[in-house]
Amino acid sequence: MASTPTRPAGGRHHVVIVGAGFGGLFAAQRLADADVDVTIIDRTNHHLFQPLLYQVATGVLSSGEIAPTIRQILRKQNNVRVVKAEVRDVNVADKIVTADLGGREVVLQYDSLIVAAGAGQSYFGNDHFAEFAPGMKSIDDALEIRARITGAFERAEITEDPEERKRLLTFVIVGAGPTGVELAGQVAEMAHRTLRNEFRGIDTNTARILLVDGSPQVLPPFGKNLGKKAQKKLEKLGVEVVTDSLVTNVDAHGVTWKSMKTEEETSVGSYCKIWSAGVAASPLGKMIADQIDGVEADRAGRVPVNDDLSVGDQKDVYIIGDMMSYNRLPGLAQVAIQGGQFVADNIKAQVNEGKSERGAFEYHDKGTMAIVSRFYAVVKLGDREITGFLGWLMWLAVHMMFLVGFRNRFVAAYSWGLNSLSPNRWNLVATRQQLHGRNTLQKLRELEDEKGVRSVMVRDNLKVGEGRDIKPTAD
Ligand SMILES: Cc1cc2nc3c(=O)[nH]c(=O)nc-3n(C[C@H](O)[C@H](O)[C@H](O)COP(=O)(O)OP(=O)(O)OC[C@H]3O[C@@H](n4cnc5c(N)ncnc54)[C@H](O)[C@@H]3O)c2cc1C
Repeated sequence: MASTPTRPAGGRHHVVIVGAGFGGLFAAQRLADADVDVTIIDRTNHHLFQPLLYQVATGVLSSGEIAPTIRQILRKQNNVRVVKAEVRDVNVADKIVTADLGGREVVLQYDSLIVAAGAGQSYFGNDHFAEFAPGMKSIDDALEIRARITGAFERAEITEDPEERKRLLTFVIVGAGPTGVELAGQVAEMAHRTLRNEFRGIDTNTARILLVDGSPQVLPPFGKNLGKKAQKKLEKLGVEVVTDSLVTNVDAHGVTWKSMKTEEETSVGSYCKIWSAGVAASPLGKMIADQIDGVEADRAGRVPVNDDLSVGDQKDVYIIGDMMSYNRLPGLAQVAIQGGQFVADNIKAQVNEGKSERGAFEYHDKGTMAIVSRFYAVVKLGDREITGFLGWLMWLAVHMMFLVGFRNRFVAAYSWGLNSLSPNRWNLVATRQQLHGRNTLQKLRELEDEKGVRSVMVRDNLKVGEGRDIKPTAD
């Protein structure tokens, strides 16, 4: 039986925010002095600073340093309630959001809805690649990648077969955007610097790190010049950059790609493969678009929004951040933050001052940056391009500014300082659960699909729209 929708007692305007990432969290904080009650729902208990995930994957930082809990961040904001649950359904006609935590349903009635559920990894229709090449979107992903990287070296250490050792010491990263470039640089530094003296049976310096992309250059959004400089730096670090090439297969053994110039196919044996090539907006976007006349999500699942970031004729439903399609703005933290603050300001003006007219969202470009190695970053600030040590200092300043919480800033600065001076990394712990958890859950899900039951473990892992008609087992 469907639950009755609830709303906070007292009858104030109720803002429901889906997602406590950059867009959702900054929107909630901006509503601190609004005459509203806010419920922020997230399927995780933390706000994740995604741009630093690659540092968790490569042992520079620990997960807690980039993911403070949402409750802790919002503990002093009395008009916010945090709900940890996965939103599975939005009904715009009745203004109802339905979420689920391990089979326990939460049904909320909203007056305004801000949807900021971000994006997931896209394998461009080849979802079976995911079993062998994890993407990097969550703490779980970063920890799995860490376990795969360190696991490759461990296996190579005890292997007698030289061909297998070569395969184990070959790392392939697919996608040469900022995440791929940053990961490639870090894996190279691990192999050539951090782990150099830690193994006896292998020379970690012989590790091959390949970065493969379909574009003609690395870091396409940064332009030709910065792409060239970043590539040169990567090559100096020992990364082999393969451009103009589309990956056609990923399996347990390795990766195959096809050159778009020569049509030639290349297969490389590799134990550790990482996917950082594409994104797809949360399926909540399409679910909402399908309910509103004249609104259609694009191929990446992004929803076209009005100037005020509302959707179609639903003036109280806003979609922001990575889920929105607006003026071709890219999926960047600043786009989500500024969108969240803009929408919150409009709700505040509507509720506090009774204003109904809204301006158009204007994005202020604060630049984009990617770190290639220790002391070397590329930065694009409008028409200005900055590289090298100065770029690295700017990267440092910006990341310090936006990392949430004083302690996290302090600990991250300490780790970066230490990492710059010493080859060691102090966060390379890897466990079997990290390595096998995701794929084991997937197998369990497939088994349960066959039987038509759901255990708590799998129920916690369901996706938008799933699980409605499946009989749960007892907790
Ligand atoms: C590895 C990586 C590196 C990046 N590097 C940079 C960078 O250097 N600079 C930059 O500007 N941008 C970078 N980005 C992009 C940036 O992180 C995103 O643009 C930004 O996070 C988008 O904010 P958002 O609020 O739309 O979504 P997110 O920040 O992704 O937040 C979405 C939130 O919604 C929650 N959620 C999702 N679905 C549900 C559901 N059904 N129910 C409940 N909760 C849900 C998620 O748990 C998450 O907390 C990077 C992204 C990644 C993955």
